Amino acid sequence: MDGGLGRAGDAPVGVLALQGGYEAHEKLLVDLGHTTRRVRTAADLDGLAGLVFPGGESSTMLKLIGWNSLWGPLDQFVRSGRPVLATCAGLILSARGVSGPEQPSFGWLDIDVARNAWGRQNESFEAVDDAGLLKLVFIRAPRVRRVGPGVEVVATLRGEVIAVRQGNVTGASFHPELADDPTLHRRVFGPAEGLDWAGSPTDCADRETAVANLQKDWQSHAAHD
Ligand code: GLN
Repeated sequence: MDGGLGRAGDAPVGVLALQGGYEAHEKLLVDLGHTTRRVRTAADLDGLAGLVFPGGESSTMLKLIGWNSLWGPLDQFVRSGRPVLATCAGLILSARGVSGPEQPSFGWLDIDVARNAWGRQNESFEAVDDAGLLKLVFIRAPRVRRVGPGVEVVATLRGEVIAVRQGNVTGASFHPELADDPTLHRRVFGPAEGLDWAGSPTDCADRETAVANLQKDWQSHAAHD
């Protein structure tokens, strides 16, 4: 296994595919020239260049991680130092502390997050980060409440932390994969070598279906809110 960034023709980038919005991540990675692999079992982690933890319903993901005996293998994979991108529910799984309600998490990122804390009235909204570099889609997003000293702030919105990096793990409270924005994926996994990425936006129908599916997931788990 190599420890470097994934490049086209090299090892695939894995996308945790237990639940939630993994397909839009796959599309963005393929647009960048990567091959991808859906991760549902420990064996699926073998030889991956990196890993994406998608958005969805973090409490459901936790159950599925338990049922599929993935807690140890995922932890070992991330601690091996390969690049990891965790969005929304993925950020919740990666955080050290989770509230709203409390639930277990891996703690790869020394941050605390509050689930669904961007507000019920704004359950979904689009924005651009304070630096004007990232397009953002927020869907019942977690809010970052504490950032530890070893954590780099990657992006803010109205002064609030919305993306962080610590070592090999980058986490975002929003959905870059639904915003037609490859910036974070490219930063984490690199572009395919020799590929002049001109962009191939997720088409609108795909994106609307992805957003609708995520919202359906959460409605069926409303008991957790
Ligand atoms: N609200 C979800 C949770 O708490 C996360 C939202 C998302 O992934 N877009 O797990």
